[in-house]
Amino acid sequence: YFHRLEQSGIRLNAAQIAAVRCTEGPLLTLAGAGSGKTSTLVCRTGYLLDVRGVEPSGILLLTFSSKAAAEMRERIAGLPGISEYDAGRIQARTFHSFCLWLLFSQGMQKEIFGDTRRQHIQLQQIMRELSLQDAYPPENLLALLSSYKVNLMKAEQLPESSEADRQMKRILLRYESWKQEHDRIDFDDVLTNAHALLKERPDLLERLRRRFSHLMIDEFQDTNLLQYEVVKMIAAPRNNLMVVGDDDQTIYSFNGARSEFILEFEKLYPKARVITLDINYRSVPSIVGLGNEVIRHNKMRRDKTLRAAHNGAVLPAYMRPDSADDEAGQVIAFIQREVNAGRREYGDFAILYRSSSTNRAVLEQLVMKDIPHIDYGDGRLLYEHWLVKPVLDHMRLSINRRDFDAMASVLPTLYIARDKGLTHIQTTDAARPKKGPLVHLLTLPGLKDFQLEKIRQRLEMIRSLKGLVPAAAITQIRKSFYDAYIQAGEHSEQTSHREMLKEMLDELETSAGRFDSIVSFLAFVDDMLLRNQQTAAAKSQAQGNRVALMTIHKSKGLEFPAVFLIGASEGTLPHSSALGADSLRDTRVGLEGEASYTEALEEERRLAYVAVTRAKEQLFVSSPALQRGKKAAVSRFLLSAFGQDTTASDAAARAEHGNRRSGPDPTRFGKVRTGRYGSSNASSNAGSSPSGGSAAAAGRTQSVPVWMCTAGSCVAWTRIMHSKDMAA
Ligand code: ATP
Ligand code: MG
Repeated sequence: YFHRLEQSGIRLNAAQIAAVRCTEGPLLTLAGAGSGKTSTLVCRTGYLLDVRGVEPSGILLLTFSSKAAAEMRERIAGLPGISEYDAGRIQARTFHSFCLWLLFSQGMQKEIFGDTRRQHIQLQQIMRELSLQDAYPPENLLALLSSYKVNLMKAEQLPESSEADRQMKRILLRYESWKQEHDRIDFDDVLTNAHALLKERPDLLERLRRRFSHLMIDEFQDTNLLQYEVVKMIAAPRNNLMVVGDDDQTIYSFNGARSEFILEFEKLYPKARVITLDINYRSVPSIVGLGNEVIRHNKMRRDKTLRAAHNGAVLPAYMRPDSADDEAGQVIAFIQREVNAGRREYGDFAILYRSSSTNRAVLEQLVMKDIPHIDYGDGRLLYEHWLVKPVLDHMRLSINRRDFDAMASVLPTLYIARDKGLTHIQTTDAARPKKGPLVHLLTLPGLKDFQLEKIRQRLEMIRSLKGLVPAAAITQIRKSFYDAYIQAGEHSEQTSHREMLKEMLDELETSAGRFDSIVSFLAFVDDMLLRNQQTAAAKSQAQGNRVALMTIHKSKGLEFPAVFLIGASEGTLPHSSALGADSLRDTRVGLEGEASYTEALEEERRLAYVAVTRAKEQLFVSSPALQRGKKAAVSRFLLSAFGQDTTASDAAARAEHGNRRSGPDPTRFGKVRTGRYGSSNASSNAGSSPSGGSAAAAGRTQSVPVWMCTAGSCVAWTRIMHSKDMAA
C-alpha cells in the first residue's frame, strides 16, 4: 500500500506509517504544525479501506471547519484505489454537521436559527418583556450560555451570586424555554441535542457503534467537552479512535476548546498508543525556526521543537510600514512584481490577519488594481458594513440634503421606523418642498419632547459636518451619538466583541484620513463599492488562482507558498481584547484575573504561531507603525522571537546533531532589505545550504539528517529589527 502511495506522489515517514498501521485501539498523535498530521489521517483512511477491508461507511472523520472537511474529502478522493463512490460513503464532516445529520436522520423537525441576528432579536425581546431592556449585550449572553453548554451544563446551573447573575439567568432560562415552545434550536443546541439523543436512545447508540468501526478526529486540540463526549460514546467499546492535534494550535478556547483533553485522552485510555511527529514538511527551516521561537515563550504547553525537512534558505522578511495603507501598498506591489516576473501566481499568496477589519487597506488595493482575490470573510468592503453605513450616510446628508437613500439608514439611529419615517418625509416634501426634507421629521405625529430634541440635535450635527475634513466628521458623528448608540447594543449583532466594532470605526476614520474633503472621500467610497460589485460578478466566474484573504482563525490547517502576516502590532496581535478587560475573558468558565489574562495572551501567541506556520516558502511579517490612527508598537511575539538568548539552544542543537549547522548560516544572507519587502532572495541563496539533498531523504526515515530549526535561523532577522525598530 505504501509503495502504491509513493507511486501516486504521497510519501510518509516511519512515524506516520506506524500511525497508519496502528488501526485498532486508541491512538494519539501529537505534533507541531505542518508535520503531516492531516496527511496521516487521510492516508490511514485509505489504508483502512484498501488493506484492512473496512467498509467506507464505517469510517467517521471529524474536523473543525467545513473548509477543512471539504479539503479532507478531496484528498481522500485523490488516494490510489479509491473509487468516487467509496469516497462519497465515508463520513468526513465537521462535528456540527455530523450532529445535524444525526438529528435529521432521527426525524428532527425543529427549525434551526439561521443566523445569530435572529437569536439576538429574540434575546432583546425577552429583555424587554422582563423590563431589562438593553441590560446585557446579546452576544455576551449567548457566549455565557454557550460556555455552559459546551461543558455539559445547563442554563439551570448558571450562577446566582449577584443581581446581574440572577438577571442573566432569568433571561437565558426564558430564552431556552422560548426555543422549546417554538421548536427552534440554535448552533449549540445541535450538539447538545445530539448528545442527549445518544444518552436517551441506547438502541441508536448501539447502531452507531456497530456502524462506525473507526473514528478519527483532526485538530483535536480545538474540541470541546461536549464534542469529545459524543465521540467517546460512539467509539466505545472498541475505541478504535485516533485523535491528532497540536496543543500549540488551540485557538478556539472561547468556544470551549481545551487542550487538556490531550492529557485526558492518555488517562482515559491508558493503553493508548502515542506517536509523535516532529519533522515539518511544509516550510523552509527559517520559517519553522521562527515558529519554534514564537511559541517557545508560552508557559502552558508541551515542549516540542520541530525540525524541517526542506532545506530552502529563504529568510522571512520583516517590514515596519508607516501605516496600514503603506503596508497594503507594499504587499500588493510585491505580489504584482512576483506575478509579472512569472515567479508566482496569484493563488500562491495568502494575506492573514488577526481580526477582519485589518484587511480594509489590502482589500481596497486589490479591488482598485483589479487583482483576482478571494476574501474568506463576508467578502464585503468596510464601507458596506451595517455598522459603517449609517456613518457614511450622515456624511452624505451633510453634502446632499435630498439624499433619500441616506435618510433611510439614518432613521433607525433616531429610533424611527424606516418605512414610516421615509413615507412621512416624502409625502410632506411633495406638498411643501424644503431644501432639507429631513426637517419634516419634526412634524412626525406622536413624537415626545425628548424625541423632538434628539431630532433637532441630529439635524444640527449633520449641518455642522459640512466644513469638516472627513476624518473629523467621523469623529464628530461618533462622539455626538454613534458610539453610545452602538454600545447600547441594539445593533451590535454581527460580532461577539465590542472591541471589534470600535476597531472597525477606527479603521474607517483612518481610511478617511487620506482625504481632505467629505466630497472626495465619498466619491472614493462610491467608486470602491462599484468596483467591488463588478469584481464580485467577475469573481464568480474566475475559479482558483486568486490571492486569499482570511483571518488567522480561518487559516488553520491550510498552507500557502507565500504568506503575509499583516498587522503584527500590539493591540492587533495580541489583540486589545486580550490585553484589557473584555467579554472574551469574562465568558470563560473558571478563569479569572491573572490566570485568564495569561491564558488570553497565550492564545494570542498561539494565533501568531498558527499564522507563521502556514507559509511554505516565503513569509512576510509587517507591523504598521500606525494602526487605526494610533501608534502601535511591534508585536511582543515578534520581539520575543528575536530575543538574544539563542546561543544555548543553538549549542544544544549542535551537540545533539554532531557538527551539522543549526539552520542556514545567517551571515550568508545579507541581502534582506529593511523597510520594504525586498524582492525574493531565494535565487541568491540557492545551493548555499550545507548538505543539499537531505530534504528528499528526510521523507523516508527519521535517521537521515534534517535541519535543526532553532533561533539561529532568525538571527539575520534580528539585525533588521535592531537597525530600524529597536532604536525607534
Ligand atoms: P497543521 O498543523 O497545520 O494542520 P499538519 O500536521 O496537518 O499541519 P499536513 O497538512 O498534513 O500537516 O502536511 C503539511 C505538508 O507536508 C503538506 O503539504 C503535506 O503534503 C506534506 N507532507 C506531510 N507528510 C509528508 C511526508 N512524509 N513527506 C513529504 N511531505 C509530507
Ligand atoms: Mg492539519
